[in-house]
Amino acid sequence: MAHLSLYRKYRPATFDKIVRQEHVVRVLTRQIERGEVGHAYLFTGPRGTGKTSVARIFARAVNCEHPQGGSPCGACAVCRALAENSLDIAEIDAASNNGVGEMRDLREKVQYPPVSGKYKVYIIDEVHMLTDSAFNALLKTLEEPPAHAIFILATTEPHKIPATILSRCMRLDFKLIPEEDLEKHLAGILDEMGRPYEREAVAAIARAGAGSDRDMLSIAEMCLAYDDKLTYKGVTNVLGSADFATNARLAEAILTGDMPAALDAAEQALAAGKGVGVLLKDLLSFFNEAAIAKMCPSAEKLLALPKEFFAEVARIAKAADGRAILRATEIFTRTESELRYASSPRISLETAILRASMPQTDLTADALMLRVAALEKQVAALAAGVPARAPAADAQPLPSPPPAMREPAPPAQEELPPLPEPPPAEDVPWEAPAEEAVRVPFPPQTVRHPVQEMPAASAAPDVPAAPDDSPDATFGRFLRRLRKLPKSGVVYALCRDLVPGKEGETLVLTTDVRTVSDTLNAERHRAVMREVFDELGVAAFEVRFAGAPQAQAKDGIQKLKEDFADYPVEVK
Ligand SMILES: [Zn+2]
Repeated sequence: MAHLSLYRKYRPATFDKIVRQEHVVRVLTRQIERGEVGHAYLFTGPRGTGKTSVARIFARAVNCEHPQGGSPCGACAVCRALAENSLDIAEIDAASNNGVGEMRDLREKVQYPPVSGKYKVYIIDEVHMLTDSAFNALLKTLEEPPAHAIFILATTEPHKIPATILSRCMRLDFKLIPEEDLEKHLAGILDEMGRPYEREAVAAIARAGAGSDRDMLSIAEMCLAYDDKLTYKGVTNVLGSADFATNARLAEAILTGDMPAALDAAEQALAAGKGVGVLLKDLLSFFNEAAIAKMCPSAEKLLALPKEFFAEVARIAKAADGRAILRATEIFTRTESELRYASSPRISLETAILRASMPQTDLTADALMLRVAALEKQVAALAAGVPARAPAADAQPLPSPPPAMREPAPPAQEELPPLPEPPPAEDVPWEAPAEEAVRVPFPPQTVRHPVQEMPAASAAPDVPAAPDDSPDATFGRFLRRLRKLPKSGVVYALCRDLVPGKEGETLVLTTDVRTVSDTLNAERHRAVMREVFDELGVAAFEVRFAGAPQAQAKDGIQKLKEDFADYPVEVK
C-alpha cells in the first residue's frame, strides 16, 4: 500500500475539523446555509494553514443536498457521487499550468453544466503564478461566469494578484495557526493512531511547525519514524537542537558576562557537531524562553518544557537582567540574519557571543566605552613616543570597558560606534578579513610589497620576500596564519586586539583587558598561539595585561565627557 502522509491521511472532511480559521469557516458556512454563495473567492494566507482543505470542503458543501451545519453530509447521492468522481470539482495547480492555453481551456469547459450537483467548482492553487495573459483570460471568465460556476483562487502571495481579479473576488485571509491549536490537533491525531507521546514532545513539534499545520505534521511524521514513543528527547534529536544543558550553560555565561565560559560552551557545542546556524537558533529560542520565564506568571504552562528544563530556564532568567536578555536576543537575531552573507559563520557567532557577554545593557554605552578604549590607547601610545596605531584597529567591540561607567539607557537604537577615519595605508601586513559579519574595519592592504606583485612570488603571497622582524610585522604574520588555522576562532578574535612590542628576544603582546589576557594565557589557547609562533620562528612570546596609566586614562575620559556632553558620564 502506498504510504500516505499524515497531512493527507488526516485531511479534514468537514468544516468543524478545520484547525483554527473560524473567521473563514463562519463566513462560508453561513453562505451555504442561506444559499447565498458567491462566484469567486480568493483564499490568502501562509502555506499549510488550510486553504486547499477549506476549498475542497466548500466545493462539496455547496453541492450537498443536506448540508450539516454548512458541511457536506457525506451521505446524500451528490456527496457519494462527488466522492467517486470529481468531474464537477477541478483543481488546477497554477504553478505548473500557468499559461494562457490552460485558462482558455478552462473558459470553454466551464460552460458545460455540472454532472452531479448544482455547481462546478474550480480551485486554482498558487494562482499568483499565472502569467499576465493567463490572468487576462481568467478575468474574462470571472467577468461573466455561468450561474453554475464557482472559482476559488488560493495564494500565499496576494500582492501579486492583479487588482482587476481582486475586485471580483471575495477575499478571505487565513491566519497562522497558534501553537495551542496545533498541539491539540496533533494530540488528537496521535490518540486516534494509538501512539504514545509525551506532552512536551507534542508541544515542541507544534512550536517547530511555526503556525503551519502541514509543516507540523511532516515534522511529526519524522519524529514518529524515529521512535515508537514520541519523547521530547527524540524530538530534539530529530530537529537537531543542541543538547539542552550546553545551551543553558552558554546562555547563562552570556547573560552573566562570563566571556571565557561562553566561548568554551560554544566551542563544546560546535565540537559536538552542531552547525553554527542551529546553535544560533537554539540560543535564540533559549533567550526567548528565558524572557517568557522572567516576565510571564504562566510561563511554565506556556513553554511546556520538561520540568527540570523549565526549572533551569527559570533559574537563569531570574538571575539575569531583563535588558540583558533582550539585548542578547537582538544581537543574535541580527547575527542570524547576517549569517548567510558571512564567509566564516563561526567567527560571526563568536563575535556575537563576545558582544553579547559584555556587561553593557545598551549599545550607546558600547559606543562610549569603545571611544574610551580607543582614546586611552592613543594617549598611551603618544606618551610612550610610539606613533599611534591606527585607531580603527582599536575600535573593536572586544575590550571590556572600565567597569565603573554608567549611564541611563537612552532609546537603544542599534548603531555601531562612530568610527574614526580609515587609517593611512601602512606596511603592516594586515589582511582585510573576508567576513562581512565581523563589522570591524581593518586597515585596507593598499601598499603591497613590490615582490608580491611579481608572478614568481605568487606561490607564497602571504610572506614578504624580505621578512621585516619588527614586532608589528611579526605579529601581523602571526595573525594571518592564525586566521587560517581551523578552530582558531576564539584565539583569533581575542588576539586581534593585542598590541605587539619587544623586550629582548621576547615578543610581548599587551592588552588592557584582563579577561583577554587571562583567556589567552589558558594553556589550551596558549598552545594554539605557540604552534603558530613556532612556525614563524618566534622563540619566546608573552601575553600581558597592562592597564593604561591613570593620568592618561583621565585625559581620555575628560575628552569623552566633552564629546558626549548630553550624557551624564560617571567614572568611579
Ligand atoms: Zn451531502
